[in-house]
Amino acid sequence: MTIDQVPGFLAAAVFGAVVGSFLNVCIYRLPLRRSVAWPGSGCPHCKRRLAWFENIPVLSYVVLGGRCRTCRTPISIRYPIIELLTAFMFVVAWWLYGPGALLVSRLVFGCALIVLFAIDLEHHLLPNPITVPGIVVGFAFSFFTDPGWLSSLIGILVGGGILYAIAEGYYWIRHEEGLGMGDVKMLAMVGAFLGWKLTLMTLMLASVAGSIVGLSLIATRRGDMKYALPFGTFLAMGAALAALVGSSVLNWYLGLF
Ligand SMILES: [Zn+2]
Repeated sequence: MTIDQVPGFLAAAVFGAVVGSFLNVCIYRLPLRRSVAWPGSGCPHCKRRLAWFENIPVLSYVVLGGRCRTCRTPISIRYPIIELLTAFMFVVAWWLYGPGALLVSRLVFGCALIVLFAIDLEHHLLPNPITVPGIVVGFAFSFFTDPGWLSSLIGILVGGGILYAIAEGYYWIRHEEGLGMGDVKMLAMVGAFLGWKLTLMTLMLASVAGSIVGLSLIATRRGDMKYALPFGTFLAMGAALAALVGSSVLNWYLGLF
């Protein structure tokens, strides 16, 4: 990195933190089925609307000592974590892709993944207002950049199709729901943005990570076979990894033959 690149990275970080602040609003309000556009942010405990200086990403949390200024109720550590994570993602994406359609596509995709990751972890829910428009937007981007419209279309069908088949099969055998339709729509969205190859990689990574965590929970007796792990959380991590390094891994792997 040279000195003239510093302003670009700084701008990416600041812009990312501000976007992360909006993602926090989505993470808090979507499961409650409340509008993400209106009204402005307030303290969930005393309902007081926040002043502009209480709404500055990361800094406000640090300055206020992680508490509401009036009622002293602790503010979730999730807020600064999501803001920092989003800022980090913007910096990495700017560094990897530079300006262009791929940058915008991957940032939109990454923001959707962050929201789905956090909501599924807390509520075991993958809201339609993220996954369904995500499928459409990802497919639209594929006409201008990676992975191309054909791979995107196959990705939607394969990603959604595989999980739909697994969900139906599981229901048929066990007579209970193992995978939700939210997971099906989420992997279709991954397919739209990343194409079919990286979608299969996402599914593999998520399954391996989910199994390792699930088995360790069983081994330490902190969970039993019935404990439903939020699969969407693992899908989000798998998709992020596939988007970052998937193409290089695929090229290396195919180069072996
Ligand atoms: Zn308060």
